[in-house]
Amino acid sequence: MTEVMQQFQVLEPSTLAEAIDALHANPGAVPLSAGTDLIVRMRKGLSETDTLVDLGRIPEFQEITIDEKGKHIGAGATLATLQAHPALVDYSAVLRAIEGVAGPSHREVATLGGNLCQDTRCVYYNQSHWWRKANGYCLKYRGDICHVAPKGNRCRAAFSGDIAPALMVHDAELELMGPDGKRRLPLSDFYQEDGAAHMVLQPFEIVVAVHLPPATAVSDYHKIRIRGAVDYPLAGVAVACTKKAEGVHFALALTGTNSMPFKVDIDEPLRPSDDAVVYFDAIDKVVQKAVSPQRTTTIAPHYRRLSIAATAVRLARKLS
Ligand code: FAD
Ligand code: SF4
Repeated sequence: MTEVMQQFQVLEPSTLAEAIDALHANPGAVPLSAGTDLIVRMRKGLSETDTLVDLGRIPEFQEITIDEKGKHIGAGATLATLQAHPALVDYSAVLRAIEGVAGPSHREVATLGGNLCQDTRCVYYNQSHWWRKANGYCLKYRGDICHVAPKGNRCRAAFSGDIAPALMVHDAELELMGPDGKRRLPLSDFYQEDGAAHMVLQPFEIVVAVHLPPATAVSDYHKIRIRGAVDYPLAGVAVACTKKAEGVHFALALTGTNSMPFKVDIDEPLRPSDDAVVYFDAIDKVVQKAVSPQRTTTIAPHYRRLSIAATAVRLARKLS
């Protein structure tokens, strides 16, 4: 059955201030970067708006600068630009995550900001309109029941972006701008565990830039997916490793298993006197306990729980 896309206007501000004004002046307006997530959802009737505010013509939005405080990356930088840019050479996890997003033509246009702000996903939600209607819609949009957890009162759709956890293990911060001006917050504070409202963006607020402090750790990212390319992570894990006098410290962040990407605290370093088998076995258990995969994908939650923990341990062992 053919679905007809709704009518909408596209506003094209040329400054950040104009973009905020455009969002403010048009109730229900939605920011548009490359549209590789948003337009697909609109096509399926999953985001209804009559106004898109195109951020792609704002020069400041695409700037990338490097100084002694680290890297400042405009949210409008494309993933292909970032893959080739010297700013990310010391952040291997971020590069690996970017390389794993969709396919090459997709990364030519897809932006960093759009990746961080993409919607959560669920097998009962990312479907055509007629399919969802036939199933009575669901809690996330138009319906009043969750097909994944029918007794629950919140959406469990999974955040499935690759880049957020990789930025988190390098302590990235976001610069946001809204009607009250700019504010900055750690990326790990930007998300919350609610599949229907997974970001703490205020009304009319947009992500302007990502700040990365100077790299002090080696890192890597790995995603578990069904196909070898053009596939979202069923589970993804970033690990950063810092070697200090007392031992090796690890930072972990996860995606694909919960409604938000999140960091996992590993308080104790791996000391020379430690039994590495026992230490990594404890990391495996910490990760298994931290995640809560649901029936939001075609792959069993238990498999995703075990495989993300095993992947975390494999990366940590390799980096140490
Ligand atoms: P858009 O689609 O323009 O925006 C995404 C959302 O963020 C929209 O809701 C929009 O309103 C909002 N938004 C955009 N920019 C901002 C901003 N600056 N401030 C506030 N809100 C903003 N993603 C992955 O992570 N990994 C994958 O493997 C992957 N595979 C994909 C495969 C296919 C076939 C498709 C269609 C998509 C895939 N994606 C994947 C999702 C998506 O394409 C990417 O995450 C992409 O980076 C989104 O960027 P965009 O610029 O196109 O965002
Ligand atoms: Fe809908 Fe439940 Fe899936 Fe959320 S988790 S999208 S409410 S079926």
